[in-house]
Amino acid sequence: VTDLTTPLRTPEDADAALRPKSLAEFVGQAAARENLRIFIEAAKARSDALDHVLFFGPPGLGKTTLAQIVARELGVGFRSTSGPVIAKAGDLAALLTNLEDGDVLFIDEIHRLAPAVEEILYPAMEDRALDIMIGEGPSARSVRIDLPKFTLVGATTRQGLLTTPLRDRFGIPVRLNFYTHAELEQVITRAARLLGLGIAPDGALEIAKRSRGTPRIAGRLLRRVRDFATVAGAPIVDAKNADAALNRLEVDALGLDAMDRRYLTMIADIYRGGPVGVETLAAGLSEPRDTIEDVIEPYLLQIGLIARTARGRMLNASAWKHLGLNPPSGAQD
Ligand code: ADP
Repeated sequence: VTDLTTPLRTPEDADAALRPKSLAEFVGQAAARENLRIFIEAAKARSDALDHVLFFGPPGLGKTTLAQIVARELGVGFRSTSGPVIAKAGDLAALLTNLEDGDVLFIDEIHRLAPAVEEILYPAMEDRALDIMIGEGPSARSVRIDLPKFTLVGATTRQGLLTTPLRDRFGIPVRLNFYTHAELEQVITRAARLLGLGIAPDGALEIAKRSRGTPRIAGRLLRRVRDFATVAGAPIVDAKNADAALNRLEVDALGLDAMDRRYLTMIADIYRGGPVGVETLAAGLSEPRDTIEDVIEPYLLQIGLIARTARGRMLNASAWKHLGLNPPSGAQD
């Protein structure tokens, strides 16, 4: 239950089944979608490879999905890997030399590339070439290999995690934002149709409101609500049985889960609302700092429960209210 609202991918997500396959099918992110449409059309009109694209934003918002859509809309091949998986420069060199003209190479978690691997990406992105050292000692020499005209699509949770030289080599940086309730309602209605599940508009909206602005969580909650509806023999999912199922799953009215509440409660109880530094919170919650900054905080910031100040994290008045506690005098909203 604790993992139900993590935006991180889990093995049972079966993301592939619900993935939109074209820009037209992709809900929300209007600005990103419109820009991509134009850049893709222009690249196709010139029969050129698309410039390198960087998707950044919290997990579960559609970065991988968009990368696949970009390849499909371009009509080119799609290869996918992730930063931590590429151990050696030679592994990346093998991937790059196997691409065909126009192909998309997707690197998830690109901020986690080893420095030696990242370095061979620079000439690969800029000049579409690899510089390889042959031999050792005084007879060693560098050989340049030309690469196909590929497009690198990178994904990362925060643009600031990338080194400047890597960030600068992406011609098309695209920020993904949390989805509105109306957008998530569309995502859920579409997913229900694909799952062959009857859902009333108020049922879809109830799940949307509790999905932390994240399509991956919306899909997961929908599956769990479906289980409750099946067992209860409910013909369709409406607001009432969605609410009952989500309460049983301990997803609260704002979509917060046990981890979010532990985070908020710790700042309230131990630090009287803050400010408190992220390292201190990470130690107190026994969670890596990255998880706090990439997974827990972005949504709490988005809905205004917390504020990030120079001196650390602080609870806003709405967070005290959500926890059912009285703020100490002087708490801000
Ligand atoms: P990320 O790579 O950002 O972590 P994914 O692309 O893997 O996120 O998306 C997570 C899940 O959410 C997938 O199952 C995908 O089908 C769904 N999803 C993401 N964005 C949308 C969208 N705009 N419309 C419908 N489903 C979406």
